[in-house]
Amino acid sequence: MRIVVASGKGGTGKTTVATSLARVAAERDRVRFLDCDVEAPNAALFLHPVLDSHREVGIRVPRVDADACTYCGRCAEVCQFNAIAVVGQKTLVFDDLCHGCGSCTWNCPEQAISEQLAVTGVIDSGQTAEGIAFAQGVMNVGQTMGVPILRELKQWTAAPPPVGHDLRGRALEIRDAPPGASCPVVETMRGADFVLLVTEPTPFGLHDLKQVVAIARELGLPAGVVINRDGIGDDAVAAYCAESDLPILLRIPMERRIAEAIASGQPLVEAEPRYRPEFQTLLEHIVAGVNA
Ligand code: SF4
Ligand code: SF4
Repeated sequence: MRIVVASGKGGTGKTTVATSLARVAAERDRVRFLDCDVEAPNAALFLHPVLDSHREVGIRVPRVDADACTYCGRCAEVCQFNAIAVVGQKTLVFDDLCHGCGSCTWNCPEQAISEQLAVTGVIDSGQTAEGIAFAQGVMNVGQTMGVPILRELKQWTAAPPPVGHDLRGRALEIRDAPPGASCPVVETMRGADFVLLVTEPTPFGLHDLKQVVAIARELGLPAGVVINRDGIGDDAVAAYCAESDLPILLRIPMERRIAEAIASGQPLVEAEPRYRPEFQTLLEHIVAGVNA
């Protein structure tokens, strides 16, 4: 089962919820955790995995053999991203615009195009002390396309779990989504079974919540809501959830102790063990909702 933890707005406590859910789930289940926030992954600060594997990833960009090219222009015609152009007796490739889709290579009548890996980031992976298989995508500075890294990250295969962890119950994948509501969020949700939306009860929280709800609905995914910092704003988020048939699965109040624990890099369930049963119930609600 694949669970995405998302929030339209940054700073709502999404990673706090995702890492606490993983810690509680790992007590009984086999958990694989993917930090999909490729611009600023930080779940490792909470889960403390030993990252012993690093793999470069990227996209395959075209390289044109000038001796074979007839400058027919077919490659430029089929490129939807204006990443290749024929100017006089030159075929130019703009790597920064290329999405690595391969259309130009397929359509070149002279087989004049080969492909070369352009590295855009890395995938770091390893295990936590609790046996959580952990991987994060990290986009290189200056890159703008996170989706190819996310596609690779979702296909990452963990090393066999440590002895004692391989006989656990369900296989759960928890994906910590990037903030926002753009293409990387859509890619993170694609292929998932449930979306857990973390928000806060403020006008900004509500605005961004609506955007990620729209993506989840477009993809046909069931969703539920966690309201973090409950008590700081108004009831508009709760009213929206009620009228939109979105269950509120957990409320985490605004408390100084919680904020301090999170700031010090502790998962909520570790800093405040009273939340362990709440997260166990949250997990079972999600599983029951998917299996219903
Ligand atoms: S399609 Fe092939 S032959 Fe035609 S311009 Fe592009 S690279 Fe050259
Ligand atoms: S690989 Fe795709 S995006 Fe890149 S230049 Fe070729 S057609 Fe354009």
